[in-house]
Amino acid sequence: KLKMIFNGNQLANTILKTLRITSEIKPKLGICLVGDSPASKSYVNRKLKACQEINVDAEVFNFSENVGQEQLIKHIQQMNHDGILVQLPLPSHLNKLDIIHSIPYEKDVDCLHMHNLQRILVYGELCEMLPCTPAAVLQILDYYDVNVIGKKVTMIGRSFLVGLPLSLLLQKRNATVTVCHRETLNLDQHIMNADIVISAAGHPKLVRNVKQGAIVIDVGISQGEKKGKIVGDVDFDVVKNQASLITPVPGGVGPMTVCMLMRNLCNIWKKKQGQPVYINPKLSDAYLND
Ligand code: ADP
Repeated sequence: KLKMIFNGNQLANTILKTLRITSEIKPKLGICLVGDSPASKSYVNRKLKACQEINVDAEVFNFSENVGQEQLIKHIQQMNHDGILVQLPLPSHLNKLDIIHSIPYEKDVDCLHMHNLQRILVYGELCEMLPCTPAAVLQILDYYDVNVIGKKVTMIGRSFLVGLPLSLLLQKRNATVTVCHRETLNLDQHIMNADIVISAAGHPKLVRNVKQGAIVIDVGISQGEKKGKIVGDVDFDVVKNQASLITPVPGGVGPMTVCMLMRNLCNIWKKKQGQPVYINPKLSDAYLND
């Protein structure tokens, strides 16, 4: 079987071209950034660059590390942007959920507000937005026409941002999903058993061997042994010889995630104007059987 290494930058650029805004009026993204962690700053910069590429306006609001909860919430409530996001993680004195929920749910470009998650993940409603990293993974599967119906998917990680929503979206597509986490016994067996392995744990070399021909999506991000180098969860050099399709880190899921954020922003804006929005074709009613 043909072995493929996914190029996230290439597909992200192709999709960004289709999102480019050509009209006089255009959407505006507002980003709240708390503190000055280099990682958060670099994520925000990537989002700003993507906004530039699709010709939408963006504004960053910087807050000090010790900004008060009420002060931040008041600011968010006064923002008049079409899409609003708060760069995560937040310092521990802030209540992440209360802050996310202060964003009006129709402006929640990261798609983390309980209203949006409930519509999508619990009721299976087709929405103008999807959580960005799960959407990126689905988009990669769609790009390669991977049919997940009845397939065994092992999802490593159950986080609010990735593992939990993605495992539910894959179930809505009629995959058989096994969710693994910190306390899972015999993780390697669950990995070897899977047709599709998706890892979002943030542990280098957690995935060392997969079934011959498996599809491997690496959502992990950690510091590599060399300073400044980021690595995924998958032992890429070994697993690339076993997998039929594999995503590298960096340059795999990451660029696609930013791209999905832009799609959410454009969709939110189009919906507001009564224009048709892009809905992922494989999240159609036919798949939502229960
Ligand atoms: P992210 O938001 O990027 O998914 P988190 O650090 O919030 O990252 O979540 C990490 C997830 O990975 C958790 O759900 C945790 O249970 C899971 N995890 C961490 N270590 C392991 C491990 N050794 N084996 C399996 N799952 C793990």
